[in-house]
Amino acid sequence: MIRFEKVTKRYADGTTAVDDLSFEVAEGELVTLVGPSGCGKTTTMKMVNRLVEPTEGRILLGGEDVSAVDPVRLRRTIGYVIQQVGLFPHRTVLDNTATVPALLGWKKARARERAAELLDLVGLDPAVFGHRYPEQLSGGQRQRVGVARALAADPPVLLMDEPFGAVDPVVRERLQSEFLHLQATVRKTVLLVTHDLEEAVRLGDRIAVYGQGRIEQFDTPARVLGAPATPYVADFVGADRGLKRLAVTPVTEADLETAPRAGDAATETAPRAGGSGGSAEAAADAATSPADPSPALPLGASLKDALALLLQHDAGRIAVHAPGDPDRVLGSLTTDGVHRALRRARPELSSR
Ligand code: ADP
Ligand code: MG
Repeated sequence: MIRFEKVTKRYADGTTAVDDLSFEVAEGELVTLVGPSGCGKTTTMKMVNRLVEPTEGRILLGGEDVSAVDPVRLRRTIGYVIQQVGLFPHRTVLDNTATVPALLGWKKARARERAAELLDLVGLDPAVFGHRYPEQLSGGQRQRVGVARALAADPPVLLMDEPFGAVDPVVRERLQSEFLHLQATVRKTVLLVTHDLEEAVRLGDRIAVYGQGRIEQFDTPARVLGAPATPYVADFVGADRGLKRLAVTPVTEADLETAPRAGDAATETAPRAGGSGGSAEAAADAATSPADPSPALPLGASLKDALALLLQHDAGRIAVHAPGDPDRVLGSLTTDGVHRALRRARPELSSR
């Protein structure tokens, strides 16, 4: 859906903000760009809606080179959420939310109806908040209006630059989980910039870890945390408290997939016995062979231990058994399960 092809941006003063960047974001995928200040995240994002023009390379949006699209038209089809929100102070919350539909020439009544719908979606009762002005809202409420406004014209693509950066940690955590729920419904293609690894891990389907103007690793949260591709990424991951969350979050039953029964595993692997023998089959063999104990953990073990085991065995899944009873397997845990667990709201842990 969004494709960067060998994109470089050098500003007029000679600063190379982005250096030969190539990556792709699939439709409906949420990719977080994470890295220290000044590494080129905002520049990357602004090249998508042409607030910044690349020096070299090209960016495709749904297969179309954005440099061929009129920038004003382009921006009306891309939702944009920034930390400072940028609400119009003299317009009501409802009218702020209806900005893009109004620009697109929707009838006023329809634009307002849509705005009310979106306010509702982000948890602001339009009857209560619609007629207020931005200064009559809390920081968290303003951020919600920013998200509602970006979604109002139902753009397929959403760019979010530190969208939850300006609010306190408790509100931030709540906005993050609300946004995840919202994204599960609207399924936009999202590029989200943050300097906070924990946020990147929690929100991203995949994460691009930035070094200076370059992506050091582009991978799932589980792999970035568990198998950093470079010493730089290892440092970045190690320095953040994101890993602490892993260490203090237990594996629960909700994170598990039902364990395949012994009979199922046999019928699944037997017909493929003469096949190519990929790692999945090898793993299935390991799981059914009594001679080679399969990786397993008790329920309640930390996600950090679970992730370490998953990556170490490269098995795709590990068995989770009842505490103190290794023979009673409750289900299996995959990296997806670890990711889902990370996404569970655990506000009581984040303050530790
Ligand atoms: P990030 O969003 O990761 O903090 P930016 O993309 O804003 O990083 O900036 C990347 C680099 O480009 C930084 O060194 C920054 O100083 C520089 N930069 C950003 N905007 C401009 C500009 N308009 N002119 C010159 N240099 C810029
Ligand atoms: Mg920035």
